[in-house]
Amino acid sequence: MREIPEHTPLLNGDERPIPPLAAGTIRIIPLGGVEEIGRNMTLVEMGDDIIVIDAGFQFREDDTPGIDYILPNTKYLEERREKIRALFITHGHLDHIGGIPYIIDRIGYPPIYTRELTAVMIRKRQEEFPNLKPLDIHEVKKEDSVKVGNFRVRFFSVYHTIPDSMGIIVETPYGDLVFTGDLRLDHVDGVPTETEEKEFSFFAGRNVLFLAADSTNVERPGFSLPERVVKKNLDEIIATTPGRLVIGTFSSQLERLMRMIEQAERVGRKILVEGRSMKVNIEIVKHLGLLKVSEKTFIDAAQLEHLPDNKVVILATGAQGDEFAALMRIAMKTHKHVKIKKGDTVVLSSSIIPGNERSVQKLKDNLSRQGAKIIHRDTMDVHASGHANRDETFWIHQKINPRFFMPLHGYHYMLRVHADIAKACGRADDEIVVPD
Ligand SMILES: [Zn+2]
Ligand SMILES: [Zn+2]
Repeated sequence: MREIPEHTPLLNGDERPIPPLAAGTIRIIPLGGVEEIGRNMTLVEMGDDIIVIDAGFQFREDDTPGIDYILPNTKYLEERREKIRALFITHGHLDHIGGIPYIIDRIGYPPIYTRELTAVMIRKRQEEFPNLKPLDIHEVKKEDSVKVGNFRVRFFSVYHTIPDSMGIIVETPYGDLVFTGDLRLDHVDGVPTETEEKEFSFFAGRNVLFLAADSTNVERPGFSLPERVVKKNLDEIIATTPGRLVIGTFSSQLERLMRMIEQAERVGRKILVEGRSMKVNIEIVKHLGLLKVSEKTFIDAAQLEHLPDNKVVILATGAQGDEFAALMRIAMKTHKHVKIKKGDTVVLSSSIIPGNERSVQKLKDNLSRQGAKIIHRDTMDVHASGHANRDETFWIHQKINPRFFMPLHGYHYMLRVHADIAKACGRADDEIVVPD
């Protein structure tokens, strides 16, 4: 792995020296996540205290040896590390936790606050960096509040693609600062569920000074495809596919993986997991009791040939066509145990990350050449994104109703589109900061 030194312009232009923080001022600086999706990291500074939210890195796809990664620019923090009181992590995806092993030493090992699953994922990843000091991780519950420096910090649950995802509320004397993290809404035909209504009712009557929110899918109209629809389709595919079934997806789609494993067990299919990151994530949710299935439901590759084809589901990473991931090795006939044959069905339960179109095409070509039937998101609803579309984002803005707004988690154009949504919700131009 190679680190690309990257330059993140600060809010007020990095050529000019940053003035000292005036008394009674709150400074919020995104250190990444504003020219890309990845390396999310934002700091909040007030008085003698700094807290940091998320520490991601930018990556192409897991299970890809030799990838380049880009870290947030932590210079501002390194120069003020005696002021850093805590690092809060919204959820366990690599674009939010991936930077921790690389930056934690530079910022002086502040205590990390996050929920249980995220904490375990951070610890697991840290095992790959034995030279680092132990992390000081505090597991929080959604209803907890913690005092760090002069801040009180609260949490709220958000619906994403991995359990224990949360947004963060920083209380200040001037009002709340709200950071959504990654989120979408759980909804039925464009009506958010009771659970969502209840969660967001917290903000009614609160004085919200500032909101920073997820911009990933704000260009898409309406509400996103409900995961419920995806689950229903995958349940049916798992129950009724006559031959062998291979499902390629992201290891980060942990909720969906859990639901597929439960369904496979219900209908008597055994599961083979191919792909290291997917294996690790499934082990973690099993260990925590979030996934309750029998150990006998899982098989190893050697058992594959002893089972009837319709009694097997192979879950594999690499639906992006990345050369070294499990699904591509299966397609290229270089996988040791799994060979595609006529009668197999391959489901690509994933989106195509821009730039990967050609490799996904190659993946599909190779799989179909060997006789597989392919189901993908254009032929059936087998994938939904974990990020809110335009109308969901609008709803979120109305519920939180901030005085000031900053779009995060997107390329510059997406941030601009998100700013327009904030305007449609009544924010004036000078109440919106688009980081650039
Ligand atoms: Zn995420
Ligand atoms: Zn993210």
